[in-house]
Amino acid sequence: MSLNFIEQIIEQDLKEGMNKKNLRFRFPPEPNGYLHIGHVKAICLNFNLGKKYGAPVNLRFDDTNPQKEESKYVDAIKRDIKWLDYKWDKECYASDYFQQLFEWAVFLIDNNLAYIDSQSSEEIASQKGTPIIPGKESPYRDQDSKINKEIFIKMTKGEFEEGEHVLRAKINMNSPNMLMRDPVLYRVINKPHDRTGSKWKAYPMYDWTHGESDYIEKISHSLCTLEFKPHRELYNWFLKKLPLNQLIPKQREFARLNLSYTVTSKRKLKKLIDKAVVQGWDDPRMPTISGLRRRGYTPESLRKFALAAGVSKRENVIEASLLEFCAREHLNKIAYRVNAVLNPIKITLTNYNEEEILSGEINPEQPKLGRRKIPFSKTLYIEREDFKEKAPKKFFRLSLGNEVRLKNAYIIKAESVIKDEKGNLLEVLCKVDIKSKSESGTEESKRKVKGTLHWVSQEHALKVEVNLYDRLFSVSSPDQDKDKDFMHFVNPYSLKKVQAFIEPSVKGSKPDTHFQFQRLGYFIQDKNSSSQKMIFNRTVTLRDNWTSSQRK
Ligand code: ATP
Ligand code: MG
Repeated sequence: MSLNFIEQIIEQDLKEGMNKKNLRFRFPPEPNGYLHIGHVKAICLNFNLGKKYGAPVNLRFDDTNPQKEESKYVDAIKRDIKWLDYKWDKECYASDYFQQLFEWAVFLIDNNLAYIDSQSSEEIASQKGTPIIPGKESPYRDQDSKINKEIFIKMTKGEFEEGEHVLRAKINMNSPNMLMRDPVLYRVINKPHDRTGSKWKAYPMYDWTHGESDYIEKISHSLCTLEFKPHRELYNWFLKKLPLNQLIPKQREFARLNLSYTVTSKRKLKKLIDKAVVQGWDDPRMPTISGLRRRGYTPESLRKFALAAGVSKRENVIEASLLEFCAREHLNKIAYRVNAVLNPIKITLTNYNEEEILSGEINPEQPKLGRRKIPFSKTLYIEREDFKEKAPKKFFRLSLGNEVRLKNAYIIKAESVIKDEKGNLLEVLCKVDIKSKSESGTEESKRKVKGTLHWVSQEHALKVEVNLYDRLFSVSSPDQDKDKDFMHFVNPYSLKKVQAFIEPSVKGSKPDTHFQFQRLGYFIQDKNSSSQKMIFNRTVTLRDNWTSSQRK
């Protein structure tokens, strides 16, 4: 198999003498929200490299901003990675390195490589310049390092208010890379930290933390998304200036995964929750791992998707239909077949007065699972769309005077209809060909008719609730519009709840059983489902109806 470009970089490093034993990777989420499908790509990339090279992969929480981070997110992130079936080596927290980072910051101050700036953040911002206009040096830039150190220590102890002072690296206010123009390393935040409590009152910035954390953990390749490319120069500058003697990590960048018809940014997903567009991080319409899980996606299908999407150097949008394809492919192999009718019309078999138990395969891909029992009786439901009084061209479902096979049962023929006084269809009267029972071995059982329909027996069927989903956004790239906010493109019809009838074999099934409702799609029970009131979520339809309906 061909190597992706990150694997090529690693192979090159090994060729140039790097010891394979020194390979080590990490996945570094900030615990400020739930993981989404974009993170799946980063998780699979790092953990698959770990597997391929027999190298450890750390899970590192990038918890340097107590204003945004919460321990409930830490728990959710761990749960999601475990569910994807990856095992991290060490569970690390950037906050565990605060003392070391503090000492290194003091080292920079002592070596005249960092200074305290006591201007307001607005003043500092106004001196930054633009990519083509050089920045202006701060009047504090040459402050004596003793004073810098004194203020810095007081900052960390909480002797100053937020915004009074910041610690900045002394690099180059003329650098064409804006990030090199004396970036802020520490600022005061007056909020206790989940893990360090009130020990520290000044917190390190992302850029000052990330590479140093990589170094402490002996990460060989620190893989991040493309927007961090300009940060690489700064990442290397810090590592070069500090007194270090072990393996220096390398930052390398790959393209973010963008998925069509959704957004992959925790901040934007949070807005959908805050504005009540969805009901939470695990709403089945969300592209979060927990939402996809609740929707009925499997870890296998998400891992397959990440592989299929590939690792690239350039940003692109992956079609949601690829994700759905990966789900179908796996679910076809594992889902239990059942019949459910979402929009029923009553069928009465005028020449049938019995009741019997028929059977159907649980999953044709796994004959070993055997067969399930399906009750059959005089009164049935089929889908309303599956009957038309007069068949239009190419309509191979039920119509007056024509025959269809009921899946795993008999061939029936529609003979007449019953309507109410307003002309609404209430019932279809049919005749059953009693010799045509499926797999009964008779000549008639082998008789071919054009259509096969799913059905349920009215008196045996369970009444359940079904959630049908559509895309969360009505355009392919909701956050790429120049003039309109992504919220403008929310699809108001992304959820449709229906009452449905389902064959009784689903009763007592485990909550994580995947079902194929024949002809309708793949379904899983919702987390709020109970034996009194079963609720099913549609993971995906059986075919890509959506793309084809859009093309029309
Ligand atoms: P968000 O914008 O959603 O908050 P983030 O990049 O801030 O995302 P982090 O928790 O900091 O989220 O990300 C952890 C890791 O996952 C980082 O290495 C980041 O580069 C990677 N990552 C985040 N989003 C994507 C994505 N869409 N595609 C691939 N990797 C991603
Ligand atoms: Mg982030």
